[in-house]
Amino acid sequence: MNPRRPTRQITLGDDRVGIIRIGGGAPTKRHPNATPDSPPHEGGPAPVIVQTMTAGYTHDIEKCVAEINRLAAAGADVVRVAVPERKDTDALREIIPQIRVPIVADVHFHFQRALEAVESGVHKIRLNPGNINDRDQVNEVIDACKEKNLPIRVGVNEGSIIERKDKQKRAVELGKFFEKTKSRSGGGGGSKQAHLLGLMIAKLEEYLDIFRERDFHDICISAKSMDAAFVTDIYSEISQRFDYPLHLGVTHAGPRETGAIRSIAALSGLLCNGIGDTLRISYANDPIFEVEDGLELMYALGLRERKGVDLIACPTCGRIQVDLFTLVQDVRKVLATEIRVPMKVAVMGCIVNGPGEAEGADVAVFAGDRRGIIYVQGERVANVKEEEILERLLEECRTFQNRVEAGEVKLGDKKVDIVPPDPIGELGSGFDKIAAGKVERVTQVTVGGG
Ligand code: SF4
Repeated sequence: MNPRRPTRQITLGDDRVGIIRIGGGAPTKRHPNATPDSPPHEGGPAPVIVQTMTAGYTHDIEKCVAEINRLAAAGADVVRVAVPERKDTDALREIIPQIRVPIVADVHFHFQRALEAVESGVHKIRLNPGNINDRDQVNEVIDACKEKNLPIRVGVNEGSIIERKDKQKRAVELGKFFEKTKSRSGGGGGSKQAHLLGLMIAKLEEYLDIFRERDFHDICISAKSMDAAFVTDIYSEISQRFDYPLHLGVTHAGPRETGAIRSIAALSGLLCNGIGDTLRISYANDPIFEVEDGLELMYALGLRERKGVDLIACPTCGRIQVDLFTLVQDVRKVLATEIRVPMKVAVMGCIVNGPGEAEGADVAVFAGDRRGIIYVQGERVANVKEEEILERLLEECRTFQNRVEAGEVKLGDKKVDIVPPDPIGELGSGFDKIAAGKVERVTQVTVGGG
């Protein structure tokens, strides 16, 4: 992991909903392209912030409040809402007092919606340079935000950067510079992607000039596309050009099944290179998944301290002799709602990798021939039948959490080395039966070992 890129820092929220900081930098380092008035930052950058957006109508106040609260409870640091109509910005006056997370108004086409949202008490504005580009209108929004100390995200999207009739011509002109320097995105279509990259950066430059002329720097920027390689290229480029914090995202990434791959492919590379201060993973699905997967990405990269359980499970293979898939899902569902401390729980299919993972986990089970041996920090606490594994494992997790919170045990402490049981003995893992070809499969399994 490379260290985070130093940026300016923006702040949103208030004492009631909480103050969220985005970006920042080391005290001695300044961004190479920092504008002369960029203040040096005290301390390191803020943790990478996970955002999402509501899927329902903002003017449906009761449902909108419920959705925002549900997303905040799942761990969203910031929630964005659409405000296409006056009734949506009006609704914010009633919504904001009922929620406990900073809210961003997503504004397109009508700059008045931004002004109304500011008056309604929103905590940040998102503007799209592709559809609000009248200089006087942008200036009005800047002045309104400045008066209330609200930041603005300038978010360009591939799909809406310029009037469509001019797009091709300008793309070719602006892309010439990047054509030589970019090779990753687009594969054989690198030239086309270079044009697009030039176009989006030019749009950002033009737009940010309006803000600089107004001496407004409470800005976060984004440049999204549905192409993961292109997202990697454009954020790498803008991270060198601007010292504003960056909001990462792959837009229109599709359903979760494919959108997760697109998003993680682009975002994890950028984050490992220290690029990115806040992100949204976008799915054509319930936004709760955007929050869960965004947080999981942060945890996986060690960019955020995990809240709740870290569940490890084996993929299963031809050695499995319990219904591990069902067990893992049942364990996950219960622990996701009940466990508050970042304990590590391992659910393993057999003795091959079970003892190793159990040693590194706070609570663990590894299964054998329709049985499971349960460990707590390396100490064996039970050997139970398959139908008793779930309840006993959950009980051990709950007890362990209580002991952690009472200060009796520490997370990650291992008390003893695990001595693996005899594979054909008490656990009956069945290696002898496997060798003799007599194992009865109890579930559909995947190919390959742990
Ligand atoms: S060998 Fe690995 S994948 Fe197969 S059941 Fe055992 S632990 Fe699971």
